[in-house]
Amino acid sequence: MAILFASSEIFPYAKSGGLADVAYALPQALREDTKVYTIMPLYNMVDRKKYKIEYTGLTFEYWLYGVRHQFDVFTRKDSPDELFVFNPILCDRLGLYNDHHGDFGDNGLRFGLFSYAVLEVMIRMKLKIDAIHINDWQTSLVALLAKTRYNLNQKIVLTIHNLAYQGIFPKDVMNELEIDWEKCYKFNGLEYFDNVNFLKAGIYYSDSVTTVSKTYANEIQTPTFGNSLDETLRINSFKLQGIVNGISTEEFNPKTDEYVDKNFDINSYELKKENKKLLLEEIGLKDENRALFVFIGRFTSQKGIDLLLDAMQLFKTYDANFVFLGNGEDFYNNAFAEISNRYENIHINIGYSEAFSRKLYASADFLLMPSIFEPCGLNQMISMRYGTLPIVAKTGGLKDTVVDFTDFEPNQTNFGIGISFDEHNLFWFNHAITKAFSLYSNKPKFEQISKHNMEVDNSWKTSANEYKKLYKKDINE
Ligand code: ADP
Repeated sequence: MAILFASSEIFPYAKSGGLADVAYALPQALREDTKVYTIMPLYNMVDRKKYKIEYTGLTFEYWLYGVRHQFDVFTRKDSPDELFVFNPILCDRLGLYNDHHGDFGDNGLRFGLFSYAVLEVMIRMKLKIDAIHINDWQTSLVALLAKTRYNLNQKIVLTIHNLAYQGIFPKDVMNELEIDWEKCYKFNGLEYFDNVNFLKAGIYYSDSVTTVSKTYANEIQTPTFGNSLDETLRINSFKLQGIVNGISTEEFNPKTDEYVDKNFDINSYELKKENKKLLLEEIGLKDENRALFVFIGRFTSQKGIDLLLDAMQLFKTYDANFVFLGNGEDFYNNAFAEISNRYENIHINIGYSEAFSRKLYASADFLLMPSIFEPCGLNQMISMRYGTLPIVAKTGGLKDTVVDFTDFEPNQTNFGIGISFDEHNLFWFNHAITKAFSLYSNKPKFEQISKHNMEVDNSWKTSANEYKKLYKKDINE
């Protein structure tokens, strides 16, 4: 069986969030016994030299609406199943989807072109593909084109990594992309309140739709979490299922992580404390005996940033250290910048840094994840691998991967343990932090849980098998 896995971002080439991690780790896990081609745009920021990305010799043109679009196909010299497509409209940018002015105005055209390229590359390179796995709105049009323009019979599997992002554009883009108005501009297609919605079309035209945890698969069929596509998802619930994400246990390994100062595992657990000491020295926070709480993630309301900002008034009074790493919406960046350097126990790093994030995972005692909604969430799984206890809101994938230490039952051996809170408000968030203090003061218990988490299996093994079953499943089953 052979799979074509199309994604707008793949770690380590280009990453804006969890999608890139999944698009790296899932194909890698599948490759144990399955042929997998990956394909992504060769953005300008991708380091061609470092990853030995070379031109394959294949260039093709595709005319749409009287405009000639050129595509050049690249691959990695040492990994020929990884494919990259260069097209200037798609790739000649400073960011993936936006810059400091906001989203690029031609994202509909850009990712429509990428969707054409995915199918053209498959056909022109004569790849023998059984199933095409597409991800989020950026590759959703692959399903529409496969079914309405190319009449392909490969099985199309769409994974929704975050329903909040749907690719909604003025409907004129249908002309630029030569999409058939009669066939596709309809309720069970692209049409969406006088605009077009790429993800909605992806849901209708794909044979199977997955999302990244079982709880989120249920949540998105309700008006609260459905982002106005709940009806579409209820109509299509017969082909919808939740498959929880895993993490790459090779990439995220405290024993080998090159960014971690003192590599450690369960047998050299004491070194985790060394990392904390070194980190505090580096960023100028004091007292390694204090509990260290960290936050890593995008500054956007989904991640519970408003709650974190409200909680600062309490955090500054606590005998504990807090570190925040992230960036995102200007409003939040500015709010964090204002607090920066104001309190002796709060450190703020506005930016994106793989290296600093790994140091935080390795050094922290607790990871804060008060998300309003969370399709799966990777941070909580990564943190557990580094012995850091997640404090999570009970939603989506956080609910499926973390159990509160007071609810833990001995038979839940492969379940991560942390602290979770139900109601999304400052009272219950603070209640969770208070529980963290009491747990931290009981060192043997804290360390027992920390070590338990390091051994929990959040690898891709089980979920990759579920995807394999899905690729094989007959379309009419
Ligand atoms: P999302 O995809 O919604 O952003 P996930 O939890 O699924 O959230 O994945 C987030 C990934 O991005 C994790 O690997 C996390 O470590 C990483 N990440 C997020 N923000 C930053 C940052 N500012 N610096 C470094 N890594 C980050």
